[in-house]
Amino acid sequence: MHSDNEALDAERLLTAAIDGRLPDERGRFGPFGGRYIPETLVPAFERLEAGVKKYLHDEEFQREFRNELVDWVGRPTALTHAPTLSARWGCDVWLKREDLAHTGAHKINNAIGQALLAKRLGARHIIAETGAGQHGVASAAACARVGLPCTVYMGAVDMERQSPNVDRMRRLGADVVAVTSGDATLRAAIDEAMRAWVSDPDGIYYLLGSAVGPHPYPWLVRELQSVIGREAREQMLARAGALPDAVFACVGGGSNAIGLFYPLLADKDTLLIGVEAGGRGSGLGDNSATLATGKPGVLQGSYTMILQDNDGQVQETHSISAGLDYSGVGPEHALLQAVGRVSYIMATDSEALEALSELCETEGILTALETAHAFAAAKKWAGKNPGKRILIGNSGRGDKDMPTLTQYPVGVSQHAAS
Ligand SMILES: *Cc1c(COP(=O)(O)O)cnc(C)c1O
Repeated sequence: MHSDNEALDAERLLTAAIDGRLPDERGRFGPFGGRYIPETLVPAFERLEAGVKKYLHDEEFQREFRNELVDWVGRPTALTHAPTLSARWGCDVWLKREDLAHTGAHKINNAIGQALLAKRLGARHIIAETGAGQHGVASAAACARVGLPCTVYMGAVDMERQSPNVDRMRRLGADVVAVTSGDATLRAAIDEAMRAWVSDPDGIYYLLGSAVGPHPYPWLVRELQSVIGREAREQMLARAGALPDAVFACVGGGSNAIGLFYPLLADKDTLLIGVEAGGRGSGLGDNSATLATGKPGVLQGSYTMILQDNDGQVQETHSISAGLDYSGVGPEHALLQAVGRVSYIMATDSEALEALSELCETEGILTALETAHAFAAAKKWAGKNPGKRILIGNSGRGDKDMPTLTQYPVGVSQHAAS
């Protein structure tokens, strides 16, 4: 029977994922992933793939990476118990504090890892794209650290929303290029960076910021970000004496979520829940909930879940947080959804704002608007599952969101949420 075949396939694919056999040699996570790119980009991607295979699991590279994570990034990041939230929600709540990592979010793990890789590959110049500006800041910092010049492509709309980060990138020595084509947000910035890469595939290293795009990026970024989940798993066992019943992480491209989830895939008693931006609601164009509301298709070189209309046109997205405002998602998440290991749900703009305020007031942590979506979903879940142990990936800090947050004065967020 069709459904039986599907079920069998799902089990086999999940086992392959848990055993570290995905992506396969074609860069696929089951049906998802792969590499759909123009002929002009093929040599650049082949060089990159060969480089990743050669260095990523090389002992010396790993030692260098680990040293930078400890010495410069400030790892391991804390696991913080949240007693006031726990009392209010009726669950035992723990936070994995990526906001404490250098430059204020998980993105630095990937940026420094790829910058070190670029050096090994003999690159002379690093380019990157950025949405919220967090990856641009992380890339600029990592490039300064390894001594390579950096150009960051950023959508003009995002530059306005995230102006403090534009200044930070420039301070860190990066050249920031405004992208006005397409939607003038992250998707257009990625296209522009790919175009720039073609102009000098030998000299340029393209430092992609999330677990998206053509093979090998989803794999490379997952490997670099898995430090989050490895630390969190160990810290939960040491501090709470047990693994969490449920783990929540926000999903834009999916890098902080896959980093947290991947080392927990085999722990099947632990529910894994990815939280996407529900924006203004469930209508097409009102959110960026790719997995919760999208369909499979090819976007930016990868077969994954995407937001598209009935004619297959990629849809404009909306989210209050620039970092979640993307019409695609990493292909490994598409697989984990298809095989039923991870559920993907949404939280709206106003739910995220309300959760952000609650976390500020109860635990003294100003979290990023992206991250606030995970808190909003966790709170709802806690309401239906009293007494459980919850781990939330606190992917970044909210200082960068002050220009947005000042439009929602303190005490008014509750009102905006209704
Ligand atoms: C960029 C960003 C995200 C979204 O990116 P992912 O690749 O999905 O992790 C989430 N949280 C913060 C704080 C970010 O800066």
